Parts: sequence; C-alpha cells; structure tokens
Amino acid sequence: MAVFDELTKICETRKNVSLKNMCSIHIGGIGKYVCFPKSINEVYCLLNYLTAINLEYYVFGNGTNIVFEDGGYNSVLICMRKMQGMRFVKNNCYVLAGTNLLELNNKLAKHGLGGMEWSYGIPGTVGGAICMNAGAFAGCMANHIKYVWVLCDGKIKRLTNKQMHFDYRSSIIQHSKLVVLKVLLTLEHSEKSEIKQKQNDIFNQRLNTQPYGTINAGSVFKKTNLESAGKIIDKLGLKGVKIGDIQISSKHANFFINLGNGTSEDLHNLINFVKIRAKQEKNIFLQEEIMFVGNKKGTNI
Ligand SMILES: Cc1cc2nc3c(=O)[nH]c(=O)nc-3n(C[C@H](O)[C@H](O)[C@H](O)COP(=O)(O)OP(=O)(O)OC[C@H]3O[C@@H](n4cnc5c(N)ncnc54)[C@H](O)[C@@H]3O)c2cc1C
Repeated sequence: MAVFDELTKICETRKNVSLKNMCSIHIGGIGKYVCFPKSINEVYCLLNYLTAINLEYYVFGNGTNIVFEDGGYNSVLICMRKMQGMRFVKNNCYVLAGTNLLELNNKLAKHGLGGMEWSYGIPGTVGGAICMNAGAFAGCMANHIKYVWVLCDGKIKRLTNKQMHFDYRSSIIQHSKLVVLKVLLTLEHSEKSEIKQKQNDIFNQRLNTQPYGTINAGSVFKKTNLESAGKIIDKLGLKGVKIGDIQISSKHANFFINLGNGTSEDLHNLINFVKIRAKQEKNIFLQEEIMFVGNKKGTNI
C-alpha cells in the first residue's frame, strides 16, 4: 500500500492492471503497478524512488513488440506512452520517447521533413523503435538518430549514434537498464505532398502484405541470413497452423494472431513448434524478435 501511495505522488499509477490491454497481442496476466510518467522529471523521480527502495521495474512503450506472460508482472511497469512531444529546429526534430511513430510521421509531413516514411504504419513509440532499431522497406531508426538522451544510474546522459551500438533490430538499450527519454532526429527537407505520397504507398504495401486488423505483435522472428522468417515458415507449410487460440497468419507467416483467448503459453508452444520444424527440416535457427515480459503462469517471482 505504501509503495502505491508513493508512486501515485510521483505520477499517474494504476494497480492490478490487466496487461492484456497493455500490449498489441492482447495477452498477459495482472500487472501489480503500472506507472504512466508524462515528463522527463517524472521518469527521473520514479527511477530514483524505485532504485532507492530496490524495486524491480520494466520500461515499455506501446507494447507492440512485447508479450506479457500469463502470470503477469509482480512489480512496477513503467509505460512511457503518455510522455509525448516534438520540437522542430530547421531539419532537426527533438522527440520525447513516448511519442507515437504515427503522430511523428504526420508532423514530419506537415513540416516538409522526409526520410522516415518507411516507418509509416509501425504502431510503436519512438522509445520502443530506438530500443529495437525498428526498420522496414530498407530504412531503420539508426539512420536518423543524432543524439539519444537516456537515464543511466540516476543521471541523464546524451549518447551519440555511435554510442547506441545500433544493429539489426538491436541497440545498447536492449542490453542495459538505460531508459530512453528524448531523441534528436535529423531529416531531409522535402515536398510535403511527396512525403504524404510515400507514406501512403508504404501503408498500402503493409495493407497488402500483412494481416492488418488482426490482433498480433508484428514479426515474431528476426530475418535470417538466408531469407525472411515469413518465407521459411511458409515453405514449411505452416500457414494457418494453430495452437490454442494463437494461429500463424495465412497472409504473412511471420505474424502470429491471437484469435481471442490466446495465452502466452499458446504463443510459446507455437514458437517452439515452428523453431523445431525449421531446425529439423531446413537446419535453420529462428530467433525471436518479440520479447516476453513477466512471470510464466505458476511461477511467482
Ligand atoms: C502490426 C505491427 C507491425 C509492425 N511492423 C514493424 C516493422 O515494420 N518494423 C519493425 O521494426 N517493427 C515492427 N513492429 C514491431 C514494433 O511496432 C516496433 O518494434 C516498435 O518500434 C516497438 O515500439 P513500442 O513502443 O511498442 O515498444 P514496446 O513493445 O513497448 O517495447 C519494445 C522494447 O523497447 C523497450 N522500450 C520501449 N520504450 C523504451 C524506453 N523509453 N526506454 C527504454 N526501453 C524502452 C522495451 O523495454 C522493449 O524491450 C510491428 C508491430 C506490429 C504490431
């Protein structure tokens, strides 16, 4: 009770939250506390408090690349999606970590700043996209980052693009306890109508190739050196295969769909099934892009 009271003094906090509503694949048990900081100062105070009382936490954005476990999360989740804002200076844009990529793209088009059209339709926050080095259609976040401001051991630090160690769907953030607060993007001046046209083309390609309108967490596996995970799963003849209420999309085999009552256990089982088939039949090791967060059912850590 005391912890909840202290958290609510720092920022908006809810307790005993259904985590199904916190991630795009609508899976998960109960989150003990979920905090929604709205400013850098609130994140700073929150992290200081949690560190001082030695309480475990996990930071996330829109939950479009993570899956909460059926057993929930028994400590503090920090959801960044309410910390939003952008400021434009010439061809640069300062963006707060919780800003939606869609919102960012709409503003970039209005300001005549191009380069990030590839990200149109990715449903994440800027912080999540930086952590994952999100990418599509030959573009990726790393190409636009000048600086990233992070919270590190109670101090705000400014990291350069090089210091972020960006790689395919990976950055230093994933392998550390750093929290992304703000970023400086560098873009190119471009015709507003051209930017809008490119965004629409990208979005239409997504509509044509991905199971838009279904409940999913984006690509389940990373691309391999040989070919895309979707093509590999398709060639294994696994489109439409289902375990529990999780099904491999018949439109794009790297998207696994929650048909309504899917659980993280179903998803783990389907992932393992696909990995075994890929290894046995094609000698290919598939590696997950999505990340599981929390306790499996029956564990109480
Ligand atoms: C329909 C659909 C299509 C998608 N298409 C693409 C695509 O084309 N390309 C692509 O790369 N991805 C795609 N994704 C995956 C996902 O949208 C991206 O990875 C996105 O950038 C994740 O952002 P998020 O805010 O949802 O992050 P979350 O899922 O909330 O978190 C992802 C990771 O980022 C960390 N994180 C989030 N915010 C912060 C922060 N402020 N500080 C520190 N760590 C943080 C989390 O701890 C976690 O490790 C798609 C997903 C869906 C559902």
